[in-house]
Amino acid sequence: MNSGDVSTRRLIDSFGRVHNNLRISVTDRCNIRCFYCMPADNVEFMPKENLLSFEEIERVVRIGTTLGIDRVRLTGGEPLVRRDLHVLVRKLAAIPGIIDIGLTTNGILLEEQAQELRDAGLKRLNISLDALDPEIFRKVTRREGYERVLAGIQAARDVGFSPIKLNAVSVRGLTEDQIIPFGKLARETDTVVRFIEFMPLDADSQWQRDKVLFAHEIMARLEAEFGALRAIDSPVSTIVHAGATTTSLLAQAHVATHAPAQDYEFADGKGRIGLIASVSQPFCSSCNRFRLTADGRLRNCLFSHDETDIKQFLRSDSADELIAQAMLSSIAAKKEGHEINTARFIQPDRPMYSIGG
Ligand code: SAM
Ligand code: SF4
Repeated sequence: MNSGDVSTRRLIDSFGRVHNNLRISVTDRCNIRCFYCMPADNVEFMPKENLLSFEEIERVVRIGTTLGIDRVRLTGGEPLVRRDLHVLVRKLAAIPGIIDIGLTTNGILLEEQAQELRDAGLKRLNISLDALDPEIFRKVTRREGYERVLAGIQAARDVGFSPIKLNAVSVRGLTEDQIIPFGKLARETDTVVRFIEFMPLDADSQWQRDKVLFAHEIMARLEAEFGALRAIDSPVSTIVHAGATTTSLLAQAHVATHAPAQDYEFADGKGRIGLIASVSQPFCSSCNRFRLTADGRLRNCLFSHDETDIKQFLRSDSADELIAQAMLSSIAAKKEGHEINTARFIQPDRPMYSIGG
C-alpha cells in the first residue's frame, strides 16, 4: 500500500473485520474496588507521568480517524477521577470524523460532572451498577458509594442522557436475586439494563467458569417473571467485513451487531434489557474495537497478551505516519477470538482496570 494513500487505508484484520471503534482508557485509578476488576487494597497504579495527556490522546484519535475510526468510548479505571475529563470530551468532539463519543463510568462522580460532560459533546453514557441492593453493592465494590451512584444516574437523566444504560456484571452466588429487580427497573423506567457475564479479567485470578451467571440463565429468569423476551436488532445492525456488507446476520440466538450487547424487549412492549454474553456467546467474529491503554499502548483485544507501545512515538517527535503504521500493524496481528472456552486460554497479565474495560 502506498504510504501516502492515508485516506483509503482502513484498520482491517486478517479475518476481514473492520475496526472503527476505539476504547480509550484515561486512567487506571478508581474510587471503588470491584472484586472482578481490581485488588481490594494495595493497588499498584501506573506512575502519573506515564498517563497520556489529553493532547496526546487527541492526536492518537485524530490519526485514527484517517484510518476509519469514527467512534470512541472513554473508560478506565474510573474515567471521572481524571481531572477535567470534559476538556478531553470537547477536544475529541471537535475532531472531524468522530461521530460518537461514549463514556463508561461507575457513576460515583457523575452528579457533579454530568452537565459539563453533556455540554462538551458526550453522546452516550453507560453507568455500571451491579446491584440495586446496597449491601450487595458493598460486597461487589468493597467500598461505599451506592447512594452517590443513584444520584449520578438521576443527574444523567436530568441533563438529558436517554436512555440511561446500566451495566450489571452478573456473578453466580452473588447477584442472582438482583435480576428481577433490574428487570422491574427496566420495565418501569427508561433504563436499559445490560447484564454482563463475568469475564476472566480480575486482578486476583479468582475467576472460575462456575461463577459466571450465563446470559441464557438470566434470560430464563426474566422470562419466567415477566413473559417472553424478543431480540431487537440494534440500530447499528450492519456488519461490515472487508469487501462485503451483511445486514441483520443471525448468529444462533444473537442478532449479530457490532455491539457486544444483544438487546431484547419484553413481548408486552414494556422495557428493554441487554445481554452481554462475552463468555457463553463470544462476539469476536463481529468485533470492531480496539483499545488504547492509559499508558499509551494499543491492544487489539481485551484478552490480548501483546501490546504496541505508541507512547514512545508520541513523546519523541515521531511523525503521525509512524503512529498510523503502529495501529495498522496492531490490527493486522489480531487473533480470531479470545479462546476463553478452550484449554488454551491464558488470562492476560493486565486486569480489567489496567486495560480499560
Ligand atoms: N470504572 C468504570 C465502570 O466501572 O464503569 C469504567 C471501567 S470498567 C473496567 C468498564 C466495565 O467493565 C464496567 O461495566 C465493569 O463492570 C466491567 N467489568 C470490569 N471487570 C469485569 C469482568 N471481570 N467481567 C465483566 N465485566 C467487567
Ligand atoms: Fe473501578 Fe470500574 Fe473496575 Fe469497578 S469495574 S473497580 S468501578 S474500574
